[in-house]
Amino acid sequence: MSDSFIAYQVTKTDDGQSLAKTNLTDSDLMDGDVTIDVEWSTLNYKDGLALTGASPVIRQFPLIPGIDFSGTVTSSDHANFRSGDQVVLNGFGVGEAHNGGYAGRARVSGDWLVKLPAGLTTRDAMAVGTAGYTAALCVMALQDHGIKPADGKILVTGAAGGVGSVATALLSNLGYEVVAVTGRPEQADFLKSLGASDIAARGDFADKARPLAKELWAGAVDVAGGNTLANVISQIQRHGAVSACGLAESMSLPTSVAPFILRGVTLYGIDSVMAPMAQRERAWELIVKHLPLDLLHSLTEEVGFDELPDLGKKILEGQVRGRLVVKIPS
Ligand code: NDP
Repeated sequence: MSDSFIAYQVTKTDDGQSLAKTNLTDSDLMDGDVTIDVEWSTLNYKDGLALTGASPVIRQFPLIPGIDFSGTVTSSDHANFRSGDQVVLNGFGVGEAHNGGYAGRARVSGDWLVKLPAGLTTRDAMAVGTAGYTAALCVMALQDHGIKPADGKILVTGAAGGVGSVATALLSNLGYEVVAVTGRPEQADFLKSLGASDIAARGDFADKARPLAKELWAGAVDVAGGNTLANVISQIQRHGAVSACGLAESMSLPTSVAPFILRGVTLYGIDSVMAPMAQRERAWELIVKHLPLDLLHSLTEEVGFDELPDLGKKILEGQVRGRLVVKIPS
């Protein structure tokens, strides 16, 4: 069997980084005890940052981008995996400091892998991808906080994007009334098809937040940061909670302590990259149980490997809807 495989590789240049499609061999793989034939990957917001170099996501050069992948184990020295196992990888610095999913082959630590959840194909797992698995972590934080559907509405920002669309579908399937915030009103029907009961305009959350606003939401999932998150926090009901996972608007958080000390609001930070294995497995269980496959397929589009560089720019411009899956050429 040839040990050559196709890959995108980012190399360092004097003025930043450059991206090229190339043929690599097993000697280009990094350390690890499990080797995988990669079948599917996806495009997450962070992949857009890595592909374009818009933010210093890649910390080692040269590097294969792609923060997640699914595929089949071809060799393993790890006790939990053997040849033929189907596996999923999310995060752990893959596509940032360790070669990632935009390649026909990957070698990683078996400690980073989860077995493909029963009921999902390797394509489905990447339709979920890191964005969808992060959405599940966000939902779990609200559930663990004790928020029940009867407590009130849940707000989801960036709802037409990857995390937002899966969060909307999961929450509505769990019985919550979801209000979806979007800057793309033309996506209202799409968001309603995922279960959103109402749509709110992104612009309504854009101005500088007041310390406290009218209490509207039992909880929220926020992918935006910045003024959006500050406004969301100021509108959370007493003892409610927000899961904050993203910075699609901004890294800043221009808020005050008022919602925290006067209403007992809780802000949960969601980190999918280094989430412990038990939490990952719980997130995948939630997805298998509460994200209907027809909904997952309806929010997923398959794109070509060659389209990744252009799509990397588009996702940063907020032009990608739902989730994208990429078949990795064998
Ligand atoms: P997408 O680009 O698919 O979705 C982001 C969405 O945010 C857009 O579709 C858009 O939704 C909305 N948006 C874009 N720009 C702005 C803006 N200026 N103000 C408010 N909303 C905006 O990205 P992902 O869903 O993959 O990721 C979302 C965020 O979550 C990113 O910041 C990403 O880095 C982060 N993330 C964090 C993880 C973690 O472990 N903490 C893991 C995965 C993602 P609409 O058009 O509907 O308004």
